[in-house]
Amino acid sequence: MSAEGPATHDVADQTDDLFEAPERGSADELLDAGAHSELDAMRHSAAHVMAEAVMDLFAGAKLGIGPAIADGFYYDFQLSRPLTPDDLGAIEERMAASIGSDNPFIRHELPPAEGRAFFVERDQPFKVEILDDLAARSEAAGTPMPPTSTYQHGSFVDLCKGPHVASTGRIGPFKLLAVAGAYWRGDERRPMLQRIYGTVWPTEDELNTYLWRREEAKKRDHRRLGVQLDLYSFHDIAPGSAFWHPKGQRLWRTLETAMRELQERYGYAEVSTPMLVHKRLWQQSGHWDHYELNMFRLESEGQEFGLKPMNCPESTFIYRSRVRSYRDLPLRFAEYGRLHRNERSGVLHGLTRVRQFIQDDAHIFVRPDQLGDELRALFAMTREAYGWFGLEPRFTFATRPDDALGDPALWDRAEALIREALDEAGTEYRIKPKDGTFYAPKIDLYVDDALGREWQMATIQIDLVMLPERFDLTYIDEHGQPQRPMAIHRALYGSLERFIGVIVEHFAGAFPMWCAPVQAIVIPIADRHNDAAAELAAVLAGRGLRVEVDDSANRMQNKIRLAQEQKVPYMLVLGDREIEARSAAPRTRAGEQQPAEGWDALADRLAGEARERRA
Ligand SMILES: [Zn+2]
Ligand SMILES: [Zn+2]
Repeated sequence: MSAEGPATHDVADQTDDLFEAPERGSADELLDAGAHSELDAMRHSAAHVMAEAVMDLFAGAKLGIGPAIADGFYYDFQLSRPLTPDDLGAIEERMAASIGSDNPFIRHELPPAEGRAFFVERDQPFKVEILDDLAARSEAAGTPMPPTSTYQHGSFVDLCKGPHVASTGRIGPFKLLAVAGAYWRGDERRPMLQRIYGTVWPTEDELNTYLWRREEAKKRDHRRLGVQLDLYSFHDIAPGSAFWHPKGQRLWRTLETAMRELQERYGYAEVSTPMLVHKRLWQQSGHWDHYELNMFRLESEGQEFGLKPMNCPESTFIYRSRVRSYRDLPLRFAEYGRLHRNERSGVLHGLTRVRQFIQDDAHIFVRPDQLGDELRALFAMTREAYGWFGLEPRFTFATRPDDALGDPALWDRAEALIREALDEAGTEYRIKPKDGTFYAPKIDLYVDDALGREWQMATIQIDLVMLPERFDLTYIDEHGQPQRPMAIHRALYGSLERFIGVIVEHFAGAFPMWCAPVQAIVIPIADRHNDAAAELAAVLAGRGLRVEVDDSANRMQNKIRLAQEQKVPYMLVLGDREIEARSAAPRTRAGEQQPAEGWDALADRLAGEARERRA
């Protein structure tokens, strides 16, 4: 499936919940209209209206599903011919007419057998398949099949659980955006359907703002900029896994180094654990049973292994390698481990949805009385790290779900400490009641990028039972008694791949000086200036700056244009006059011409700017 469409910043991607594996293409997933807010309900309602229009225009169209998504909606269809951009106009016109008639959405419930017959009669095999799945599941569970609920507006009827707006007239200004292929149930062995993406907003202004943002986002698409800036590339031989070019790897290392220094200041120790691990570990952690579809498995000498999808369980082997005293805690193990998750090929997207990635992961083992201080330190670290990029983090705090494991008193205590630390940190946060994982309250961090898109980035989970209980972690308290520590799972960048994808788009490739892969480029005007250019480059490199010389045969104006395309922060043009005075007048990538400075003074100033680590 092409990744065309507005959903590139789906926030649900690859969070680090130990067991939150999506049930792929399940009937529940297919029936979920995605309408979790009023705006979503309007978006999903627009999908119904679009399906109505397509049924009118394309005889025999078969309906897939049509949920609300970030910024809009889609619907999947099986049609007798491929759609063209011209078709979208005709569908839009037909939709406008349906919205104009202000038809109410009416819910009907049918006994299961009648519901199935209804969709068989209308020759809608995908809907019938969903109903058959539900029936099979009810039978397996020994529960009665629920009635079939449909929604009707005008003469169009769809299998749906809702919710919708009251009538089609409540649907705001909309636009159809794109067509893409999408496998039925995300399964490449099933038919390829045609997916139409659309967007809809309460007001014309909001629609226009969104359309502008979308155009701008296309220009900033990190897959495109990755090629232009020579950072990374993707190849069919390794789906969902980036190939890092020298400049991209330099960017990566710069971010990693900054984080390592921060971690060192906060008392972290770095560890490294194997990537290929026997299934016994994954059975003990529960992944083998609950996460198996998301793991890559291998066999050797008749033994089964899995590539690690997360570092968590292995960190406990280091913890348990010796007896831990209350005085040893907190222990903070950082790990930049390479992780693999078997994401469906259809959902892979550049750097933001991948199969192989590295997190700035850490597992922190604390005594319960240390949790508050540790959280305060984590919030301070997070704000410092996001400050390097000029990003203001926002937190959500997901509290105890109904199916939580572990001692309720421990949950209460942990949640109280989290609240206190969040309040003290003075950062904005929102509570998501009962949205924690069953073993941990969790804090997720969001940022808005330059286009106002929200991204989920860091995550902090306070694991009360999973690692501590399943791996029997203990420390010896001051009375010589064994006690359970808590385990904090946290990644501040999250996955480095995803983080880099986000900042490439946020900065449109014009990275802050401190992390720009090339910070300055020396541009000799003519060949006779090449030696002096190399000399100036050496002065800059001597101050730790990442510098290049463009001694190609290009003309000066061309060299400047190329450097600007590469978004290099400083261009230093050298001709006879500058070399004579051992000076250079920097030109910024924004086009600003700065006054000439001596080479040493210039190198000191640029190195100072690079050290400051700020956007
Ligand atoms: Zn619906
Ligand atoms: Zn973990």
